[in-house]
Amino acid sequence: GMKPSRGNMVLLAVGSNTPGSFGPITETLRKLPLLLEAHGIGIAKASRLYTTNPVGTGLQPHYFNAVLQISSPHAPAVLLRHLKSIERQAGRRLGRHWGPRPLDLDIIAFGGRVVSWRTGRRRSPGALILPHPEAHLRAFVLVPLCEVAPHWRHPVLGRTARDLLKGLRISRHSIQPVVDFPPGSWH
Ligand code: AMP
Repeated sequence: GMKPSRGNMVLLAVGSNTPGSFGPITETLRKLPLLLEAHGIGIAKASRLYTTNPVGTGLQPHYFNAVLQISSPHAPAVLLRHLKSIERQAGRRLGRHWGPRPLDLDIIAFGGRVVSWRTGRRRSPGALILPHPEAHLRAFVLVPLCEVAPHWRHPVLGRTARDLLKGLRISRHSIQPVVDFPPGSWH
């Protein structure tokens, strides 16, 4: 497999906020290592699972989030296709962009690669952007990312995961580790 060094670190953000084809959210997440493995993708390091308080009012379900450092035999665009396929296996359907999703898999970074960052979103919807265009703004990405790779450096912004998190003013209570889903649940 790939040697996990800082230079070629591949990082995934995992999210889920609704049951899917494997059952409740925790079952989807427990199944994830097997699903990734079936697509040739190994987990090198995993954060704890976190739950994110919905902001504001309304009946928004809690989100569950984690970050995985993976070994990918696939090039970035091919990896994205595999991830979309795994999302569908977990029961995700096309449609409402912000709707409930049994599984959301985002490529946060693929080594130091920079692809369509800043301008890519407007050019072609659905096209791969690296690093993920919102990763540096999202506490639910940066908190678990700091567990896995605090010294990972954003190749465009030049700041580490830890620095990016420090720059966000977030409430410590808005994102909490899930105690009944220990790190061993990923293996
Ligand atoms: P989502 O956040 O899963 O709804 O992603 C919406 C679309 O963003 C996907 O269909 C991808 O084609 C696209 N996308 C662009 N860059 C990325 C990335 N780094 N990771 C995952 N999806 C991406």
